[in-house]
Amino acid sequence: GPVFRNARLFPDRVAIRDQISAYTYANIFMSAHGLSKEISAILEGKVNERVLFLCPNDVHYVITLWAIWMSGQIAVPVSPLHPKSLLQYYASDSASKLFITVPNYSDLMHQVAQNSSTKLHVLDDRLKLNCTLMQATGPEDLEGGRDDIFYNNSDAMILYTSGTTANPKGVVLSYNNLSAQAASLLDAWKWSSDDVLLHTLPLHHIHGILNALLCPLYAGAKTMMLKKFNANTVWTYLLGVNARPDDRRITLYMGVPTMYSMLVEEFERVFKEDQKMSEYIRNTLKSKMRLMVSGSAPLPEPLHRAWEEISGHRLLERYGMTETGMTLSNLYESDREPGYVGVPLPGVSAKLVAINEGGELTEKTLVDCSNVEGSLVYQKNGHKDANNSDPIGELLGKFYYITKEILDVSFASVKGPGIFKRYHERPDTTKKALTEDGWFITGDLCQYSIDKKKFKILGRKSQDIIKSGGYKISALEVESAILGHPLVKDCCVIGTPDEKLGQKVVAVLVVNGDVPKQEGDQLKVSQLVQWAEENLPKYAVPKEWRFVNSIPKNAMGKVNKKVVIHKAFGPH
Ligand code: ATP
Ligand code: MG
Repeated sequence: GPVFRNARLFPDRVAIRDQISAYTYANIFMSAHGLSKEISAILEGKVNERVLFLCPNDVHYVITLWAIWMSGQIAVPVSPLHPKSLLQYYASDSASKLFITVPNYSDLMHQVAQNSSTKLHVLDDRLKLNCTLMQATGPEDLEGGRDDIFYNNSDAMILYTSGTTANPKGVVLSYNNLSAQAASLLDAWKWSSDDVLLHTLPLHHIHGILNALLCPLYAGAKTMMLKKFNANTVWTYLLGVNARPDDRRITLYMGVPTMYSMLVEEFERVFKEDQKMSEYIRNTLKSKMRLMVSGSAPLPEPLHRAWEEISGHRLLERYGMTETGMTLSNLYESDREPGYVGVPLPGVSAKLVAINEGGELTEKTLVDCSNVEGSLVYQKNGHKDANNSDPIGELLGKFYYITKEILDVSFASVKGPGIFKRYHERPDTTKKALTEDGWFITGDLCQYSIDKKKFKILGRKSQDIIKSGGYKISALEVESAILGHPLVKDCCVIGTPDEKLGQKVVAVLVVNGDVPKQEGDQLKVSQLVQWAEENLPKYAVPKEWRFVNSIPKNAMGKVNKKVVIHKAFGPH
């Protein structure tokens, strides 16, 4: 299969580099092969068992993932960022038969494994060191590794959703799903084996795993892995200062909006005053970086602009989810407009359907776009409505049956859907998530701009669409406008019950400087109201302003609005 095949194509190329050593494709293959035999022995030769693993963001993670696959098991990745209670939830929900971890987390995983029959395997301390020594002596050493699995529909991974709207759901992805998702991004974002990705994302989530680890591995590229995101360290790597000569070349970076916002803050703290340095940074990033991507949460327009100002790069925003991989993306080679997430990726079809007053989907298709052969995007329907506005509806997605042979030019195809197989042990939820003819219902509301031919995400139907005085207001658009005010550091907009309006728009804010008293720093509030009135339609101007120290976010920088409401208003 493509991932293992790269060990044969590029045995001596560096696949992963951490802050200490470099590991070639062959190193990792040989190491994983050894571990896969141990896994098979522990599981007494059984296959298709779920194996939960907790590894730091370094070569342990990749060796373990490959070994789980080589031994024919299903990988359940979890993260050191998860609290123990959540690890316990993942362990019991997935009913994993084996846990794998590194010595650092063995106590923690012992506790998670308590009271269950789950086995725990702690990787040897020397694995990392030995890995660099494990060379293939000839191509026959790099055979095996169950190539066949990469072209079949068996379960490869259970990835948990972020749990923004309910308890995290286990999403079962097949090898075909993963290959199709990676193929689509490799094509759209022009990956090559010459690329070097700076990796700072958590590795329990589709963004970090698929876009930022499997893609470079499929492409035969190099991943420079940092243990975790730290704005100062990321700047040193982006600029190549203090880095070892081998680490200076980086061509790609992917982050969630919070990461870019912390990078902006750090820039302002360290460099901003220095005109010459700012210029140097812009020139360096512009010539050095091929692509910088943002996703997983809405990218506010002011942040998009601030990053362009600093780096000379227009962030490429894309949209996706655990169940589908990436589905919409701005085009690599054309304008990237703040606020828009672009068009369907290769192999993806997307359509907007109307929802009626009761919130049910109707048969009515507002726009239907497909990207079946690379850059060709077909559009059907797509008329402005009676008020001459762009259509708004719920986004449905569908993958065409592609699994492109990585690094080949044409679409070799294996039939089979690219969206997830099912939610683990949740047959009813799976059934409700798909229409009868196989469209996945995203739960996100979207607008399609007829003129720009691009999609815009308005937010989750369940919590970002505020119904106030007969208007449907996108919380994301209000947030984006308010974030443009220099006083505002962070902002979350919610709808709270209101007798007259149904719901009213409430802004929860983090401001620069001291937190104003709840009764109101009237001056600040009136400035903000004025700003909102200038930048938003009247009905969308917040009726209430609440000030907090911080807006709670999860490891992916996602805001759980139920938690925000609790924090700003106390228990209801
Ligand atoms: P759960 O499904 O458990 O409630 P979740 O939907 O947050 O959690 P993920 O699969 O990690 O879990 O996230 C997918 C969601 O993230 C999308 O449905 C969308 O709401 C949001 N999202 C992803 N990319 C973007 C983007 N570029 N702009 C706005 N929202 C985005
Ligand atoms: Mg979801």
